[in-house]
Amino acid sequence: MIVGKCRKYTVVFLSVLMMCFSGAWLHAQTVKHVVVIDPAHGGEDTGVVGVDKIAEKDLTLAIAQALKKELAQKPNLDVVLTRDSDITMTVAERRKFIQKTQPALVLTLHVNAGFGKTSSGFEMYYPGFGVKSESPKKKTKKRDAIDEKNYLNDTVRLSRLVQKNLDGLFPRKGRGLREADVPIAKDLALPVLTVELGFATNPGEKKKLVSGKTQKEIAGALAKSIKSFF
Ligand SMILES: [Zn+2]
Repeated sequence: MIVGKCRKYTVVFLSVLMMCFSGAWLHAQTVKHVVVIDPAHGGEDTGVVGVDKIAEKDLTLAIAQALKKELAQKPNLDVVLTRDSDITMTVAERRKFIQKTQPALVLTLHVNAGFGKTSSGFEMYYPGFGVKSESPKKKTKKRDAIDEKNYLNDTVRLSRLVQKNLDGLFPRKGRGLREADVPIAKDLALPVLTVELGFATNPGEKKKLVSGKTQKEIAGALAKSIKSFF
């Protein structure tokens, strides 16, 4: 091949290569993952209220807002809250909001309650692989079955990241991922993880949860988990 033609081909090849790389880079920069953070309870539904009169609904909202702030710096994430103030919102309304938003993942925040004062630590819930969807649409198609497995696998993957990152805040108190009939996740074919952040019935743990410092630390650990997930 003559030198001139060869050089011309090289220039064309390099140009195409550069276009591909810049296109991929641009794609990585512009693809936004929508994340829904759901501060449980709110308004008339206070959730657990301890002797200090501070309600679960206020703790979940404070942590959710701190988490949104932590993730605001990530250009590839679009974080929305189911509620951003002290309003009453039913589980059905939250589910409707999630259905409309179609996020890549949902994190529902609660604070736990135990029978005694000694229960402590965090735990997580998800529908599990064994719980059948009550959707009237029969999941007979192979494609649906694969999708279902994928989002549940993703939920488990997210729970492992949360477990790892919250372990430092609740030393040796990770109570793991449990299967349950989670009402907010019903009929939603996407990763929905419920996190119970400590026990409001444990005076020591409640005192920590009320402090702005701990709330920020929890938000940081959850933010780290979400960043790693994507
Ligand atoms: Zn709750």
